[in-house]
Amino acid sequence: MAVPPRRTGKTAKALRRSHIKLNSAALVECSNCGAMIKPHHICPKCGYYNGKKVVNVK
Ligand SMILES: [Zn+2]
Repeated sequence: MAVPPRRTGKTAKALRRSHIKLNSAALVECSNCGAMIKPHHICPKCGYYNGKKVVNVK
C-alpha cells in the first residue's frame, strides 16, 4: 500500500536505495593482444574478434 512521503523516514529511504548503484564495467582480456576489452566487442587495440583480424587499426 502507498505510504505518504513524510511517513517514510531517512533510514528507510537510505536502506531502500542501498541497492541503487553503478556496477563496474565487465571487462575481459583480448585473446590476441591481452588488452582489457568489453566482451563481445572487436578489440579497439588490435582489431581482432574471435581469433581473427576483422578491422584494421592503424
Ligand atoms: Zn586486442
